[in-house]
Amino acid sequence: MSLRRFSLAFAVALCLLLPFSLTARASDTLAEHAANAYAAQELAAAPLHGNLPDYSLSPEDLAKSQHLSAVHVTLHFVDAAWSIISLLLLLSLGVIAWMRNTAVKVSGNRWAQGYLFLLLYLVVGFLLSLPLDLYAHHLSRKYGLSVQSWASWFGDQAKAFALTWIIGGLLLMLLFWIIRKLPRSWWLVFWGVSIPILLFGIFVAPYIEPLFFHYEPLQKTNPALVAQLEQVVAKGHMNIPPERMFLMKASAKLSTLNADVEGFGASKRVVVWDTSIQKLRPDEIVFVFGHESGHYVLHHIVLGVAFTLFILLLTLYVGYRFVQWAIANFGARWGVPSQNDWAALAVLLLAFSIFGALLEPVENIFSRHDEHAADVYGQEAIHGLVADPQATAKAAFEVLGKTSFADPNPSPLYEFWTYSHPSIGRRAAFAKAYDPWAPGFEPKYFKK
Ligand SMILES: [Zn+2]
Repeated sequence: MSLRRFSLAFAVALCLLLPFSLTARASDTLAEHAANAYAAQELAAAPLHGNLPDYSLSPEDLAKSQHLSAVHVTLHFVDAAWSIISLLLLLSLGVIAWMRNTAVKVSGNRWAQGYLFLLLYLVVGFLLSLPLDLYAHHLSRKYGLSVQSWASWFGDQAKAFALTWIIGGLLLMLLFWIIRKLPRSWWLVFWGVSIPILLFGIFVAPYIEPLFFHYEPLQKTNPALVAQLEQVVAKGHMNIPPERMFLMKASAKLSTLNADVEGFGASKRVVVWDTSIQKLRPDEIVFVFGHESGHYVLHHIVLGVAFTLFILLLTLYVGYRFVQWAIANFGARWGVPSQNDWAALAVLLLAFSIFGALLEPVENIFSRHDEHAADVYGQEAIHGLVADPQATAKAAFEVLGKTSFADPNPSPLYEFWTYSHPSIGRRAAFAKAYDPWAPGFEPKYFKK
């Protein structure tokens, strides 16, 4: 079976199966419906960017949250627009063509050309986005969300840059090799080839993260906590032995809280940030862990991969069509004669930037759905393990929100377009109202 046939068969299977599995997940239970309605009502009754009955900030913190919220909205859309505008400028001013000419002049070797072209492209891209990145880090430090020194921040930028160049270079060589071999179906075949690459990337991510943060076994520092978390593990019939639980020393750089599930197969693990352990009560950590184990039990990593592949297939196809159109119409002006030319990478990335900006809300609808499901799972999982699951979950959200000055009541459109999680106020209100053990209701994931 040729790679092209295999990719096509896989693409068709994915397009048929994905809508199926998505609709199967869409049903709300009665208890969930009631709590969602309660939260929606609470948000609708509160002033925009103002406090909610179930998540409120002090007047001083609310002012900070409102300022941060306004800046984030602006930064978010300016950043998306700038990535498109700067690429258009680089193409029309001939900078991309100059990068290609330089790379081709320096060496006849394709590997040297590809890596040099990418290096020039990444350096210019880094400099163009530097002002916004500097401002964002300045803001994080000013509000105490980050405690990372500028030297350490620049160190991280350098590491990320090197990784992007090395790994991106391999992908670039692969892409252009396939484009030369299969001028009309490269988008499909490159997609097929990217499946094992994506899986490998998720598998090795937990081994790359220690470049940026220090990790240690959770059991070493918090054995009592591990014993508590193992109760959640047992309830969900999961297989997360204590050696798969890690403590990440986020406090060296950040003051915000988090926990997540990373990797898959032999590298799958649960990671709790040390900032969470410093600021949350033990019951609240158990809830946060319950949420993370929900991602684990409900197969969110696998579903996320399937969804990402679907988006990638669409993106590559749109990119392919865009490159043909753009080269036919602007190729002469931009100095990009064909899709085989290194400079065509910029045209392809321009397509990805435009299409990616439009797809953002679609990806976030998917992500918010999973996050909400994990909230429901987490709250049900701690039933019987903590005194009051509703109060515990609500309190955890309040701490999470307060440490990052999260907007209690963001604009619904901004939440819809850019939030990967439901807003923290919505989650707190939902948690307070969610009681599937009340008469007439049934839990979603556990038996009563
Ligand atoms: Zn989550």
